[in-house]
Amino acid sequence: MEFEMYLKNSGIEFLKDHPLKEFTTFKIGGKARYIVFPKSTKQLIEILTLAKDEAINYIVVGNCSNVLVSDKGYNGAIITTVKIDSFKIDGNLIEAECGAMLSQVARKACEAGLKGLEFAVGIPGTVGGAVYMNAGAYDGEIKDIFEWAEVLDENLNRLKLSKSDMRFSYRHSRLKEERMVLIRAAFCLKFADKEDIPPLQKANEFAKRRREKQPLSYPSAGSVFKRPPNNFAGKLIEDAGLKGYRIGGACISEKHAGFIVNVEDAKAEDVRKLIYLAQKTVYEKFGILLEPEIQFIGEFETPLFVPENVQNRR
Ligand SMILES: Cc1cc2nc3c(=O)[nH]c(=O)nc-3n(C[C@H](O)[C@H](O)[C@H](O)COP(=O)(O)OP(=O)(O)OC[C@H]3O[C@@H](n4cnc5c(N)ncnc54)[C@H](O)[C@@H]3O)c2cc1C
Repeated sequence: MEFEMYLKNSGIEFLKDHPLKEFTTFKIGGKARYIVFPKSTKQLIEILTLAKDEAINYIVVGNCSNVLVSDKGYNGAIITTVKIDSFKIDGNLIEAECGAMLSQVARKACEAGLKGLEFAVGIPGTVGGAVYMNAGAYDGEIKDIFEWAEVLDENLNRLKLSKSDMRFSYRHSRLKEERMVLIRAAFCLKFADKEDIPPLQKANEFAKRRREKQPLSYPSAGSVFKRPPNNFAGKLIEDAGLKGYRIGGACISEKHAGFIVNVEDAKAEDVRKLIYLAQKTVYEKFGILLEPEIQFIGEFETPLFVPENVQNRR
């Protein structure tokens, strides 16, 4: 097949029929037909063009730290950007390729005395994944420092988007709406003033808080649900009595009920069942519908919970 021939002939690193669980922070996920590791934007565009021409399904991912991949895997190409990872800091402007790790970019920025990315030091994703998700923590989010991005639209045209083009909102960006691929992004930070807490110190304090509050010793994809307005998903799940609840190898974390952790070779369906249970129980007790923040790849047997009144409206 031409796609595979191209990968072989061009020396692009790829794996065939290989389990995705090796690459997800959840350590869950069945086999993908291809997992491809382009090393440059040029290679990324070539791979996407060929996949499109040959009608091969594809998904562009970063560090797979916010995804749940089906046990059945993915019948197509998972194109990971983690090897397209250069970035530079010029004054207070940072330009980073899609696969640069956000935590590394943030740490370097803090070391350079720049403020604005301290919140991101503990987020284990790439720049592409972070912009796509409008990732955030501790009252900061990507939107606050975003300057511009170079993206590919669905027809693989290259566009430059400004902040107002991006339609950012809580854990949302235009990239999600239009299936765009982020190639590179620029962030504009501020120089820390003398009276500010030094950025590196602030970042280290956030990292310490994470270690204290989050179950970082187990594989997970971070917070499973978005924060409902004026509330916290973890608190609602805990108040619903589900902290520590286990299905198969997956468990609602004892340390932070907003996290589902893989405690013993969990299956994606174990996680989906816990998601359904948490959504249903919280809805029945408090009338609040928890919306997953994590992204799903592949097909699942366990559905997401839909309240009856919403089902009837369909
Ligand atoms: C322990 C832990 C703590 C976490 N803490 C936080 C937190 O504090 N705040 C927070 O917001 N998140 C947090 N997360 C979730 C996650 O790290 C972030 O959402 C991160 O931004 C995802 O980046 P990624 O590269 O891993 O994306 P992936 O998981 O690989 O992908 C996520 C989505 O982005 C898309 N995507 C990835 N790259 C591109 C690209 N170049 N172009 C277009 N689409 C792309 C994928 O298709 C997918 O839909 C945490 C996760 C873990 C495991």
